[in-house]
Amino acid sequence: MHTLVFATNNPHKAREIEQILGGEYQILTLKDIGCLEDIEETEDTLEGNALLKARYVKSKYGYDCFSEDTGLEVEALDGAPGVHTARYAGESKSPAANIALLLQNLEHKMNRKARFRTVIVLIINGQEIIMEGICPGQIALTKRGASDFGYDPVFIPEGYEQTFAELGEAVKNQISHRAIATEQLRKKLMMNDE
Ligand code: IMP
Repeated sequence: MHTLVFATNNPHKAREIEQILGGEYQILTLKDIGCLEDIEETEDTLEGNALLKARYVKSKYGYDCFSEDTGLEVEALDGAPGVHTARYAGESKSPAANIALLLQNLEHKMNRKARFRTVIVLIINGQEIIMEGICPGQIALTKRGASDFGYDPVFIPEGYEQTFAELGEAVKNQISHRAIATEQLRKKLMMNDE
């Protein structure tokens, strides 16, 4: 079993990625390496914020690591909330408030097309590698499903009628933005092990 540092304190993301990597890697989060400070995401792109988090861990703690940043890009809102996805309705980062604002802003819009985009940055053996995963879909009219992770109750991936929250982890982890980006991560890690 390999150990890998993931520059996050989001347990949902850590569990998803650990599951997608298929149990070959034990993921250590920021808390596990003693990094208790909040790494502020000050860049205006997902790539910028992912680079910032991975570089912070490498330079301050010395670990090879990976980071990820995800945004929800809604066509009728010109790509918003995008890089502001976590704080769409304010600094509380409340998923319920974020979803309420999103549904309100789309209230009279016919076009509900959206996509999740994940950027993963891997720092390994002195290299920085950037990977991306995109999951197209649409925004539901109301919240549906049991999971309360981010926008999962209102995101319907292309080819399905249920939201991510209704589909559950097993299906989501086959098709999601994070699954696509993580598959690339897995391949890079395997190449590195050879
Ligand atoms: P960040 O990548 O931690 O900045 O998260 C951006 C925002 O997107 C947060 O509000 C997350 O809850 C949300 N988010 C990230 N990934 C997903 C996902 O897979 N499903 C639903 N919401 C997500």
